[in-house]
Amino acid sequence: TPTAETRKFEAEVAQVLHLVTHSLYSHKEIFLRELISNASDACDKLRFESIAKPELLAGDAELHIDVSWDPAARTITVRDNGVGMSRDEVVANIGTIASSGTRRFLEAMSSEQKSDARLIGQFGVGFYSSFVVADKVTVLSRRADAPASDGVKWESDGKGEYSLEQVDLAERGTAVILHLKADEDEFLKRWPLRSLITRYSDHVAFPIRMPVEKDDQPTDEWETVNAASALWAKPKSEISEEDYQSFYKSLGHDFNDALAWTHNRVEGSQSFTTLLYIPSQPPFELMMGGRDERKGLKLYIKRVFIMDAAEELLPNYLRFVRGVVDADDLPLNVSREILQQNRQLERIKSACVKRVLDLIEKLARDEPEKFETFYKAFGNTLKEGIAEDHANRERIAKLLRFASTKGEGNAQKVSLDDYIARMAIGQDIIWYITADSYAAAAGSPQLEAFKAKGIEVLLMSDRIDEWMIGSLTEYAGKKLRNVAKGELPLDEADKKQQEEASRAAEPLLKKLKELLGDRVGEVKVSARLTDSPSCLALSDYEMAPHLARLLREAGH
Ligand code: ADP
Ligand code: MG
Repeated sequence: TPTAETRKFEAEVAQVLHLVTHSLYSHKEIFLRELISNASDACDKLRFESIAKPELLAGDAELHIDVSWDPAARTITVRDNGVGMSRDEVVANIGTIASSGTRRFLEAMSSEQKSDARLIGQFGVGFYSSFVVADKVTVLSRRADAPASDGVKWESDGKGEYSLEQVDLAERGTAVILHLKADEDEFLKRWPLRSLITRYSDHVAFPIRMPVEKDDQPTDEWETVNAASALWAKPKSEISEEDYQSFYKSLGHDFNDALAWTHNRVEGSQSFTTLLYIPSQPPFELMMGGRDERKGLKLYIKRVFIMDAAEELLPNYLRFVRGVVDADDLPLNVSREILQQNRQLERIKSACVKRVLDLIEKLARDEPEKFETFYKAFGNTLKEGIAEDHANRERIAKLLRFASTKGEGNAQKVSLDDYIARMAIGQDIIWYITADSYAAAAGSPQLEAFKAKGIEVLLMSDRIDEWMIGSLTEYAGKKLRNVAKGELPLDEADKKQQEEASRAAEPLLKKLKELLGDRVGEVKVSARLTDSPSCLALSDYEMAPHLARLLREAGH
């Protein structure tokens, strides 16, 4: 390989750079959070690698992140003494789009022809956000296990090409140097940088250092400017609401406040700490239906970051949760394979599920507005739990809310318990209808008889409902039933009336069956209608019509 060369960005990188620089403008300050978060990841990785290879830390054991500015050169530098990158890693991580999440992001952006800064902010395009404020970025990096002569210098103006050069670097780790655009002088001072660190990165677990200032100029003296503590390890009584929120922001790609959190320490034969957050809006990945890549739940062992372990620690239907699990008793050299079949981890996982469900229940009980926000954002994700998590089905079902013939319009606010409390004497079935839309459900002729008898029917029209309800056949000892299926429960007077009507209509029914032939199974007099002359009904084992249509559309 040549020591110096120029390469083109992958076409997709160029696209991302274009989108980012044009749409992130109102949140341009997040570049600092992104660079610090990368530096912190790099320190985490080195600390982890050094468990097996302590010599990697030799001579420079204090991991830290330095943020400095140079008014004369008009640069900001974020430097870490973490794991660093080899030449190949620089090319793979910065010159191409390594993450499939970024690719999906890109697809969403170009398909909807819009550049929503909120989306980008939540998603975090990481390193590339540098180009919002810089017209040239230099990266100097050396892997912790490489000699000083194997340093890499990467440089780009973010337009289409980057240069690569082999350089001598005395110290391991990475320095990202931003050459600021002409109108970005606001960042060339200590105070704005310092306050951004406090806002977004105060609880990064490594010291973030800044030069001490004298006469408006940076000096050679460094001071730590963040809390640099493992927040979750402190006693709850010492943590303020702001601390929790700022830690949340340093955890994931969200510049909104978290909606709620739960922080617990379990002591005993197995000790661990969990700090779990519910975001106030669906993260980008979730909105895009992303399932394969789940970030946001970090596993630590005795405060050493081990890996992102959202899939090992939480079931799919709670994939919106962010946070930290710190276990005391797992072996530090644990691998993903070991994790997947570790029994201790199973216990931690069910504790996490319990804590999150407790938290949601608490919102439902004590903070209805927050619960509503939660339900709008994640209700449909939660519903997956009905099918996925048998052990907690009843608890999850209790949290569901529906529109209803006795509710307020299309608002999803009626719980199954509300329904049961309103049931008529002798009613032992929870009735519901599923349809493509609220209007189709609410306007269905199937509801006429129920309305006439004053029986409440839940109106389900979310895409997932038909599938979910298939797993929810019973709640609190009451059966759930689709109004379109089978026969209505009739009292004696009704039965008599219906028999008479059937007899009277026999010639008509025969005629209709002859006319319709095989297109219907049966033509009969029904008690389900009061105003409409006829409707299509399903037998007990048939699929709901709109589900059948969905399956047809999907090619089944
Ligand atoms: P993400 O952090 O979500 O992976 P980024 O765009 O922020 O995405 O960074 C891309 C990749 O570049 C990182 O995954 C990492 O491999 C590498 N990288 C970025 N900054 C550093 C750094 N300071 N030290 C080591 N590797 C880094
Ligand atoms: Mg990053």
